Amino acid sequence: MSFLPIPKYKFRAIESISAELLVKNNIRLLMLDLDNTIAPYGTDHPTKDTQRWVSAIREAGILLCIVSNSRRARRVEAFAEALGVPYVLRAKKPSPRKPRELLRQMNVAAEAAALAGDQIYTDVLSARLAGITPILVKPIKLSNPLLALRYALEAPFRIWRRYA
Ligand SMILES: [Mg+2]
Repeated sequence: MSFLPIPKYKFRAIESISAELLVKNNIRLLMLDLDNTIAPYGTDHPTKDTQRWVSAIREAGILLCIVSNSRRARRVEAFAEALGVPYVLRAKKPSPRKPRELLRQMNVAAEAAALAGDQIYTDVLSARLAGITPILVKPIKLSNPLLALRYALEAPFRIWRRYA
């Protein structure tokens, strides 16, 4: 088990993660980062593509849960409701505490869970520390210079994997 924040898979968008890949890897629970992974900053509604993708994952029998560092309860709740997915706020990723709590609550082994997110030092690191499969997705949009700088700092870990 590596504690380096290296993703196991890397995708250009959340919708590129197929139910087949998850099923093949015995993933029963997929945790989702919110901002810039399934939600562009500044919007309160998931796209039709994201809604269709969530339905397909759910139909494959995979549990979903949003695990967000956000404190903006209304925004997270709006997305979770639109997608019909439970959520955790203020997860404080890279802490593995909330992902571990979820595993216990949902009675899923760490090996049967994955976390998909757009940031190396929060999402991927949190997944590694919790012993669950890290999936990196390309951020939807780099909306400000600070975010762009942060992604630049993540570059060494980001280029480690090719896009699946
Ligand atoms: Mg994010």
